[in-house]
Amino acid sequence: MSDAATPAISNLLREDRLFPPSSDFTAGANAQPGTHETAAQDYLAFWSGQAKQRISWFREPTITLDDTEAPFYKWFPDGELNVAYNCLDRHLDTNGDKVAYHWIGEPGDTRTITYRQLHEEVGRFANALKGLGLEKGDRVAIYMGMIPELPVAMLACARVGLPHSVVFGGFSSDSLADRIDDASAKVVITQDGAWRRGEVVPLKVNADIAADRCSSIEHVIVVNRTGNDVTMVDGRDLWYHDVIDGQSADCPAEVMNAEDLLYILYTSGTTGKPKGIVHTQAGYLTGVTTTHSYVFDIKPDDVYWCAADIGWVTGHSYIVYGPLANASTGVMYEGAPNFPGPDRLWQIIEDYKVSIFYTAPTAIRAFMKWGDQHPAGRDLSSLRLLGTVGEPINPEAWMWYNEHIGGNGTPIVDTWWQTETGAIMITPLPGVTTTKPGSATFPFPGVSADVVDEAGESVPLGEGGFLVLDRPWPSMLRTIYGDPDRYVDTYWSRFAGKYFPGDGCKRDEDGYFWLLGRVDDVMLVAGHNISTAEVESALVSHPSVAESAVVGRKDPVTGEAIAAFVTLRSGQVGDESLIQTLRDHVASSIGPIAKPKSIVFTEDLPKTRSGKIMRRLLKDISEERQLGDVTTLANADVVQQIADMASTATED
Ligand code: ATP
Ligand code: MG
Repeated sequence: MSDAATPAISNLLREDRLFPPSSDFTAGANAQPGTHETAAQDYLAFWSGQAKQRISWFREPTITLDDTEAPFYKWFPDGELNVAYNCLDRHLDTNGDKVAYHWIGEPGDTRTITYRQLHEEVGRFANALKGLGLEKGDRVAIYMGMIPELPVAMLACARVGLPHSVVFGGFSSDSLADRIDDASAKVVITQDGAWRRGEVVPLKVNADIAADRCSSIEHVIVVNRTGNDVTMVDGRDLWYHDVIDGQSADCPAEVMNAEDLLYILYTSGTTGKPKGIVHTQAGYLTGVTTTHSYVFDIKPDDVYWCAADIGWVTGHSYIVYGPLANASTGVMYEGAPNFPGPDRLWQIIEDYKVSIFYTAPTAIRAFMKWGDQHPAGRDLSSLRLLGTVGEPINPEAWMWYNEHIGGNGTPIVDTWWQTETGAIMITPLPGVTTTKPGSATFPFPGVSADVVDEAGESVPLGEGGFLVLDRPWPSMLRTIYGDPDRYVDTYWSRFAGKYFPGDGCKRDEDGYFWLLGRVDDVMLVAGHNISTAEVESALVSHPSVAESAVVGRKDPVTGEAIAAFVTLRSGQVGDESLIQTLRDHVASSIGPIAKPKSIVFTEDLPKTRSGKIMRRLLKDISEERQLGDVTTLANADVVQQIADMASTATED
């Protein structure tokens, strides 16, 4: 038990709004009441049942979990399969002409790609990769934007048994080179340039700098997308269209062991040197297909749109592997959400009659900032399910999403998971779970989570602490590439036998899980551990506010004082009186202890390239320290602006 005076993390926010599923939705839902309970009775039987039902095996496994070398768990270790075969070949008879992707280029060009076409293109490119001498186990780096050749490249690698390492196209040449080096990749697949807000991002130029630096690189394969000038190094660089030209579409799917490496994906680096997260074949495929079916309630005629970038795990699991293995029809959009105008996404939903839409809180808060009129001007009535992932969603952002995108009555799934978990871990099941705005609700069937104190003991309902996952799960990371000690240290050492994700969490009186942000960001104010998420949610619950970030700044009296950074909704004016109003608003909604000492209004907040608020830098600004490394930021220029404003901020 934690010391009664100082709970691991305080519980300040109360939320009483309930959104039960409609009986109509429940009647047709993939997940049914009882799914959680059945899985809880025997979680290994649950996962083994899913694996057998959802995967087409070359050799069905006889073992579900091998925990003899925990935490180096093995799932279905004697099974054999091919992930690309599961995503493509097995659909051809019944779904060959079904659309796999409706692709929309940023400039407005479009492509419609059926499962048969995708299968052929993957076969050709897989043969091309073999033709370059690549062999099972060789690593391939992929540095691309959101074009169809990106999933083609990933699936071609999976088909031949080449682990891929996709590096987000917004990363610099240095970030790319670090990742190529870490995995000793032999090939990098890129494109001449990528469209972003009407401009060309010079991917090939960046890839050249990286390839020059990395001695492991033998070839650079270049997709012609934007037609910008590029230099092709003789012998090393090859055009994608040349390498697939004349290749047979028929490429046998390599027989892979369940525990062979499928891919490496580096975490974004918000919390230090990027870690090469290792995912393997069968457990991963089991996790993504099961969650994709139950959480998104996928039906054969849904038009499903996960608006993430494939460069992040969300795209790996819920644009590529889960949806394709489940033979669903997806939308894939190349560009920025506000190009050419702030209603681009709503236009796509209208045009393609998208029925399921999955995005991030950071995007939702941007939509709130841009104004309600943009979604209001489009027909969004095709939507029947909404999802979010990436950060805690403030209850008011949830309510906005519910009203302005969902039209009140479309279920929302707030899904908590990580690069490391491979698949969704804590989430409502639509049709089953009564949701509360801002809560990710309960662990997915077959997943077990707890909230513990410093000593690793469960805290009572109503208290906050550290989130842990206390049983292994099939789509879990297997290790950190090349660094097994760091795997054990980072994830399995803080609480013996339990996986520690690094997030704070509380459960309310009804047992609902509320994610509270990263443990590293927790603020210690006058002896109370206060989570960033609750104070930020209190600020966002004021109608003038679109987004906020809070940090603990050193304070002689209270240890730390709360410094808040606030972005207003369009049309609102940030002045002295609003500062007072917001401070009082926080005090009255969650308690005087959480009242920000200072508030700075800012146009934008520093964000990682995946769009998450980077509080560490705001802390540097608040404590007037030399600013740390800003190169991993998506919007580095905003930091100096905030620093200038913060130095003139008002206080008590
Ligand atoms: P890095 O590990 O390099 O710092 P990252 O943690 O941002 O990067 P991801 O694996 O993409 O990289 O993000 C996982 C984290 O995102 C979780 O640990 C959690 O902090 C946050 N997160 C994701 N989904 C949710 C959610 N639904 N609610 C609250 N937080 C979430
Ligand atoms: Mg992380």
